[in-house]
Amino acid sequence: MRSIDDIEVSGKRVLLRSDLNVPLDKSGSGAITDDGRIRASLPVIRKLADRGARVIVMAHLGRPKGEDFAERAAGGPSLQVVAERLAELLGQPVAFASDLVGPSATSTVAGMADGDVALLENVRFEPAETSKDDSERVRLAQDLAKLGDAYVGDGFGVVHRKQASVYDLPQLLPHAAGDLVVAEVAVLQRLTVDPARPYVVVLGGSKVSDKLGVIGNLLGLADRVLIGGGMVFTFLAALGHEVGTSLLEADHIDSCRAVLAQAAERGVELVLPTDIVVAPRFAADAPPTVVAADAIPEGHMGLDIGPASRELFASKLADAKTVFWNGPMGVFEFPAFAAGTKGVAEAIIGATAKGAFSVVGGGDSAAAVRQLGLPEDGFSHISTGGGASLEYLEGKTLPGIAVLEQS
Ligand code: ADP
Ligand code: MG
Repeated sequence: MRSIDDIEVSGKRVLLRSDLNVPLDKSGSGAITDDGRIRASLPVIRKLADRGARVIVMAHLGRPKGEDFAERAAGGPSLQVVAERLAELLGQPVAFASDLVGPSATSTVAGMADGDVALLENVRFEPAETSKDDSERVRLAQDLAKLGDAYVGDGFGVVHRKQASVYDLPQLLPHAAGDLVVAEVAVLQRLTVDPARPYVVVLGGSKVSDKLGVIGNLLGLADRVLIGGGMVFTFLAALGHEVGTSLLEADHIDSCRAVLAQAAERGVELVLPTDIVVAPRFAADAPPTVVAADAIPEGHMGLDIGPASRELFASKLADAKTVFWNGPMGVFEFPAFAAGTKGVAEAIIGATAKGAFSVVGGGDSAAAVRQLGLPEDGFSHISTGGGASLEYLEGKTLPGIAVLEQS
C-alpha cells in the first residue's frame, strides 16, 4: 500500500477522504460534542497542505434522509460546523463547498492555491454515494474525480463500505493511503500475523449476533477468549442455564453452542464469567445483586460480570503478550454496573505496562475507557473504526483497503 510519502502532491489537487463523522448535540444547537475525529484527521491534512497540495476534504456526517441531493441538503446534517471547527484546529481558513459535484464545489476548487484546504458538503447528501447500484456510484465517482488529480484514503471508519468516495473514486485516480489508515492496518496485521503469545481476546457488548463472525475467526488465532457483556447470556443459555430477563438472542443459541465446541476442539480456552451482577430492571438505580452465573433468578437481568469473574478475567490477562478487546463487560453507562468493564480495562492496562501489545476496538469500548477515567495511553492502540476492525478480524476483505492496495 502506497503512503502519502510515496506520491507527488505539490501543486496537485488532492481529494482526501477523511472520517469526520462527529457526534452532534441532539438537543437543538447542533454543536459538535466530541471533535476527536476532526483532531485525528489533522496530521494528514497538514502534511498534504505543507507539501503544497490543494487539499479537498470529503467526509460524511450522520444519516441524511431524502430522495435526492436537494431533499437531503434541506434535512441535514451539514458539514458546515465541521468546516468551522476544522479551520479553528488547523489555524487556517477552510473553504466550504455547499455541494459535492455542483457549481459550489467547482468554483471552490478553482479558487484554491497550493497549501489551501477546502471541505465539500456531506458526501451522503448524494444518494449515489451509498447506492448498491455500481453504475450509480461510479457516475458520482467520475464527477468527483474531475475535481482532483490524486486521491488519499484516510477514513478508516468507512473502509469496510463499498461507497463511491471510498471504493469507486480511488480506482479513477493515482491514490495512496493516509497515515491513519496505514497505522490501523499495521495494528490489524500485528493482531493477525504471528501475534505474540499468549494472545487473549476479550469480547463483550450487547449483541452476540454482531460478534459471532469475529469469534469464529479469532478462535483460529487466540489462545484465550474471555466473554462478558450482554452477549454472554446466549452462551450461558447454550450451556443450559436460565438467564432470567437478560439479553438473549434465542436464535443464536445453537451458534454459541457450536463456538463452545469449536473452542474445545481447537484447544482455545473460552472463559465465561462465573458470577453475574443482576438487577430487577434496566435502570441506573436498580438494586444490584451478585449471583452465580448458573443461578440467575427469574425476573432478574444480568447487567455486569461479578467480582469473582473480574478476578478470573484479570488472571487470564496477567501474562498476555497480545490483547484485543471489543465490547464492554456490562452496562458501564450506569455506575453500579461499570465495575466489570473497569476491572478488565485495568487488567489490560496492567498487561500493557508489562509489554503486551493491546488494542481496543469498538466505539462504545473506546467511550467506556474515557468515561471511566482510564488513561487512553494505557493501551497500545485505540482503533478509530470499530466496524472496520471487526470485519478485518472476521477475515473479510475491506473494499476501501483493497482498492488502495491496487497500483
Ligand atoms: P462496541 O461499540 O464497543 O463494539 P457494542 O456496541 O457491541 O460495543 O456494545 C456496547 C453496549 O453493550 C453498551 O452500550 C453496553 O451498555 C451494552 N451492554 C453491555 N453489557 C450489557 C448487558 N449485560 N446487558 C445489556 N447491555 C449490555
Ligand atoms: Mg457500539
